[in-house]
Amino acid sequence: MSIHWFPGHMHSTARAIKDRVKAGLDVVIELLDARLPGSSSNPMLAALTTGRPALKVLNKQDLADPAQTAAWLDFYNAQPHTRAIPLDAGEKAPARALIKACRELAPLRGDMHKPLRVLICGIPNVGKSTLINTLVGKRAAKTGDEPGITKIEQKIVLENGFYLFDTPGMMWPRIAIAQSGYHLAASGAIGRNAFDEEEVALELIATLKRHYPERLQQRYDLAELGTDEAVLEAIGVKRGAKIRGGAVQMHKAAEALLGDFRGGQLGAITLETPDEMAAWRRELAEA
Ligand code: GDP
Repeated sequence: MSIHWFPGHMHSTARAIKDRVKAGLDVVIELLDARLPGSSSNPMLAALTTGRPALKVLNKQDLADPAQTAAWLDFYNAQPHTRAIPLDAGEKAPARALIKACRELAPLRGDMHKPLRVLICGIPNVGKSTLINTLVGKRAAKTGDEPGITKIEQKIVLENGFYLFDTPGMMWPRIAIAQSGYHLAASGAIGRNAFDEEEVALELIATLKRHYPERLQQRYDLAELGTDEAVLEAIGVKRGAKIRGGAVQMHKAAEALLGDFRGGQLGAITLETPDEMAAWRRELAEA
């Protein structure tokens, strides 16, 4: 089974992006979750924004494996018309790096006469509101709609000649790569009614066994790691998810593990490497 997820606003967001392209767009910021940069990236965005220069912001870097964040930054920075920077909510002045990177991507824009028009996108829960609040601070003004632009777009003036356009929601065609569905669900990007927590927890265990087995062992005091099911059961035992008679409530164990991962209690973890993501894409293309 894979995960089927169609967030709301899918069509209206796509339309808003097309309207923005028509009205004028210089740089697209895509906020990614640094723990799953490939899976949290929208495969339709480049086409919708007709190949405009892209800034990939690897957000929540505090929760991600620094070595993997470096690998993903290299991966994105090697792509044409693309820059990538890491970020987290603890950053005091995120505007500086972000504005600088955008200006470098569109060097001919950014004054009073030719403002730099930047669109910011990201899947739910990636930290977009947090970042915008930090960016806006006290300096910037939020303004209303522009003629001809769908109402859902918000224009934020970050500084003279720098306009940030925010569109709520994020269209996703369909999560074609099963592994991406699991990673998105584990990260908290997908509403909990849209997936089976136990299934996602078992996939998370398989991934952790592959990349970070010692974290599982330390966190749950496990001398050895058995099958994925056995590990989940052992987590349940440690977390008091046993019912009278001895059986473990596996959904409670799953909730405990997913909560620990989302909260960073398992340490800084990245679920996928650029090579793995490329292999999953290849498999999909060949299937
Ligand atoms: P949005 O749905 O993209 O607008 O996401 P929010 O800004 O509401 O953030 C979702 C959750 O992620 C909130 O609990 C934030 O506190 C948390 N969050 C946002 N940015 C970061 C970050 O850089 N690091 C960590 N650890 N948490 C973050």
